[in-house]
Amino acid sequence: MTGHVPEWLGRYAASLLPVFGTPQTVLSHGQGCYVVDVDGKRYLDLLAGIAVNTLGHGHPALVDAVTKQASQLVHVSNFFTSQPQVELAEALLRIAEAPAGSAVFFANSGTEAIEAAVKLSRRTGRGTIVAAENAFHGRTTGALALTWKPAYREPFEPLIGRILHVPFDDEAALRAAVASAGDDLAAVVLEPIQGEGGVIPSSAAYLRLARELTTAAGALLILDEIQTGMGRTGHWFAHQSRGIRPDAMTLAKGLAGGVPIGALVTFGAQVTGLLGAGQHGSTFGGNPLACAAGLAVVETIESDGLLAHARAMGEHLVVAVDAVGHPLVDGVRGEGLLRAIALTRPVAPAAMTAAREAGFLVNAVAPDALRLAPPLVVTAEELDTFVAALPGILDAAGAGE
Ligand SMILES: *Cc1c(COP(=O)(O)O)cnc(C)c1O
Repeated sequence: MTGHVPEWLGRYAASLLPVFGTPQTVLSHGQGCYVVDVDGKRYLDLLAGIAVNTLGHGHPALVDAVTKQASQLVHVSNFFTSQPQVELAEALLRIAEAPAGSAVFFANSGTEAIEAAVKLSRRTGRGTIVAAENAFHGRTTGALALTWKPAYREPFEPLIGRILHVPFDDEAALRAAVASAGDDLAAVVLEPIQGEGGVIPSSAAYLRLARELTTAAGALLILDEIQTGMGRTGHWFAHQSRGIRPDAMTLAKGLAGGVPIGALVTFGAQVTGLLGAGQHGSTFGGNPLACAAGLAVVETIESDGLLAHARAMGEHLVVAVDAVGHPLVDGVRGEGLLRAIALTRPVAPAAMTAAREAGFLVNAVAPDALRLAPPLVVTAEELDTFVAALPGILDAAGAGE
């Protein structure tokens, strides 16, 4: 054992609750789309903290916003507000093309945004929520009930009841579940693209059906855009490319470029009116530091044209990976810069390790799929270095089977 990584991992194992298993390495610093570990090994970060580091690492706009805000006010409590909080809420409503009466609640994480959405849905006076198989909505006990993976859920049951999980992107199954919930249907909760589930896009027709069915049932359509939002798919929010508007959406991950934040956006005065004074809250939620970071993210995506850039880089990646023509590659799915390279055999964990050894951070989101969610500022040249290394990475992964 040489170097600092094993030593730090030993200390990690002796001091951290082991819920994440052994970390892959110990990171020290980063710049742009690169990160460096404590042994000085440099990696191209094609995961961006799981779709979080929207602007990469050390982006001057984010550094300046956080530095300036930290010197002014970090926290004020929700007995008070601050300019960044109001400005970020206004910016989110603008980019969401939200109608009059829409509003934002700020939390600190994705799972908390989902908790707020579950409470919102309870205020309809109904109790059944339809969610999708393979869905991921977070780990707190309310959000966990909506999350699909039995291994995450079952050790903690009983969770909140009346959750119906239906096969994703299956119109007949959605119709049947909505019909069976009847007058008790409070909400349908869906990810436009299932992220943790393997980067599985829904069709526009499916989300439009979900919109029609919830409207007809007097229930809420709640979209979880925690992973797909904030420009990740080349649109501010993935639902915008599908021509529908939800009643509420949850945000987190990329919203403040890595500073912890979550948000629930309610569309229209009727939905906004479901949660009244005293019915929800958070000590840290909406603090000026996180909101200033969020504003820097929104402003930089706009000033640097990063929505169009994310679409172009996503297309570039698809074309480049297809051109490699490796026998283990079964295509690239996803939208914008939320992508998975589908593999013909379940060698994604080995490919992730081989990629890391070659200096690239990617994620085995499924046994047969490698997720790429790079910073939105990634360049074609940076993506090309990964694509050039991909045959060797996949050969190594295939050989190790
Ligand atoms: C990551 C994620 C969550 C949970 O967010 P946390 O910040 O980890 O609590 C919920 N929904 C989706 C779609 C996610 O990708």
